Amino acid sequence: MESVRKLIRDIPDFPKKGIIFKDITPVLADPTAMAAINGAFEKQIEGLKPQRIVGIEARGFIFGAVLAHTLRLPFSPVRKPGKLPYQRVSTSYKLEYGEGTLEMHTDGVRRGERVVIIDDLLATGGTARAACDLVEKQGASVVACAFVVELGFLGGRKLLEGRRIVALTAY
Ligand code: AMP
Repeated sequence: MESVRKLIRDIPDFPKKGIIFKDITPVLADPTAMAAINGAFEKQIEGLKPQRIVGIEARGFIFGAVLAHTLRLPFSPVRKPGKLPYQRVSTSYKLEYGEGTLEMHTDGVRRGERVVIIDDLLATGGTARAACDLVEKQGASVVACAFVVELGFLGGRKLLEGRRIVALTAY
């Protein structure tokens, strides 16, 4: 993961002053790094017997869809409001910079299903927690929340208490 870490670019004061944005686009442009990330996710997640991958808009779609393809699992999106066309469940949450709402289709997970939630980065944990709430509200269980990057100093793990966390790199 050291080579992945080297590709992650710090952008100070984006999208707001005081935030150091972790830009993962150089990682997306590096097929070797992408393969390493996907392999690491696969290794840590396969044994949990997941039945579905849920990806969080937008960068969670990229890593989540690749992993879902590798594990031959269905993929479902969690999106910002106004994007999903079918019947939805929604929940509001706090994030590092602002507030938001996330939505998921009512057929996005099945009752009793074992779900892995994927996003690029864990910051304060509000986004991932909202995704967990959407999945659990519909009777499925979150067997892991997986991230390429964890900003450990923000303590996001606390909000995900009781759920397994997979983080490939940490700051
Ligand atoms: P949070 O809800 O605070 O854990 O924020 C996580 C979500 O916001 C993820 O979808 C990230 O992509 C994005 N995010 C939050 N903080 C950052 C950051 N410093 N750099 C890059 N993305 C971030």
